[in-house]
Amino acid sequence: MAILIENGAILTLAGTPPAILDPGYVLIREERIVAVAAGRPADETRTAADQIIDATHMAVLPGLVNAHTHLFQTFIRGLADDKTLLPWLKAAIWPVGAAMGAEEAYLAGLLGLVENIRSGATAVIDNQYLHSDDRTDAAFCRAARDVGCRFTIARGWADHDYHPVFQETPEQIIAAMTALHDDWHGAAEGRIRVAFGPLIPWGCSAATMQRTVALARQWGVATHIHTAETREEVQMSLDATGLRHVQWLDRLGVLGPDVQLVHAVWLDDSEIERIAETGTLVVHCPVSNMYLASGIAPVVKLLRAGVPVALATDGPGSNNSQDMLETLKFAACLQKVGTLDATALLPVDVLRMACVYGARAINLTPYPLSYEERGIDAPFPSQGGGQGVGGCLAPGAAADLALVDLNSPRMQPVWSVPSALVYNANGGDVDTVIVAGRVLMRDKRVTCLDEAALLDECRRAAKALLKRAGVVG
Ligand SMILES: [Zn+2]
Repeated sequence: MAILIENGAILTLAGTPPAILDPGYVLIREERIVAVAAGRPADETRTAADQIIDATHMAVLPGLVNAHTHLFQTFIRGLADDKTLLPWLKAAIWPVGAAMGAEEAYLAGLLGLVENIRSGATAVIDNQYLHSDDRTDAAFCRAARDVGCRFTIARGWADHDYHPVFQETPEQIIAAMTALHDDWHGAAEGRIRVAFGPLIPWGCSAATMQRTVALARQWGVATHIHTAETREEVQMSLDATGLRHVQWLDRLGVLGPDVQLVHAVWLDDSEIERIAETGTLVVHCPVSNMYLASGIAPVVKLLRAGVPVALATDGPGSNNSQDMLETLKFAACLQKVGTLDATALLPVDVLRMACVYGARAINLTPYPLSYEERGIDAPFPSQGGGQGVGGCLAPGAAADLALVDLNSPRMQPVWSVPSALVYNANGGDVDTVIVAGRVLMRDKRVTCLDEAALLDECRRAAKALLKRAGVVG
């Protein structure tokens, strides 16, 4: 199956500064991109294509990676607005999460994944920590398989001091992770992966943390953990251990390129240095940090120290949407206001965060930054490890793309494609989404399922769940 996308403004994100080929074309064969070039495709290329997508007045960009969410929260968005983290957990997240069954989880997962696709996300990392029904992990994986996006399930765990319903013993955690790894790691032609998701430093014992990180390293999977989200939590850690969150993780030998610190809002300079030295990745959730009044993460300092910082929406309970295009704008604007520097993060910087560093978070290898120097038609080098190359539009990279419609009153005229994507566009402007060479959305219509029927089912199921959980009458 060969798909040709022509007449678009192609934002390759390969090279520094990234090339924009306008007009340009992208040729996809099976699950990979085989050609990216400026101008119009040759007649032979057009004739050989099974499907031609006309991207006139559209931006064509690598798929965005939503590097941290909690899909189950689609059913409770808007239910506990205007609270800080701990009261918010107690008001809605814990009671509804504790009552949710596997079939409700499947529907909530489908809803959240469709919303992600609609905003141009081709990959999602779900920090899934509901275990009251032991089929829940599989329910989210089924949803991802049925939708067709890339999906990492970072299975959340806590073994002390957390809400009792969400706590497990170390033996339960290892047994459940082993089963999940056996059943789902590498499923759906490799699009589904598993990761360990220790929830939060104050809910995870040192011994279990070290045990799970050792197992993750043995399996070659990531460890994904909420870290230093609020000042209050860092103080809790200082009171209990005398160490800040990153210091505590460092002491345990946890930091490393296979580790993802979500939020990382409250860091001191020595922690930033250690995150950089160890090659640890940070996931920034600007909307959630504002929504829960958590603070402004030191993203510019982290990037300048050489830390890869990916972007995410966080769960729909603290956002309340899953709009990755909207996240780009918030990420840029929050750093401007936090540093009082209008150049703190530019549109291209946040696009790189979402695509290039996002690719790293899902185990795709970002394209080497020297690509542009070697020319756009340079042969693609073999990378080794991981699932191949992603986060850019270049020959050999994974065929994960989003096409964003620029032909609307709030975008035209467009003088800079990255600027229009970051400051003007939102999820409603995404026209087409392709994951691993399969079209999941076309002409703003989701092709992988019946969206109207899904919305009906979700309304009904969420209402019944909230009633059962005692959250609404
Ligand atoms: Zn989270």
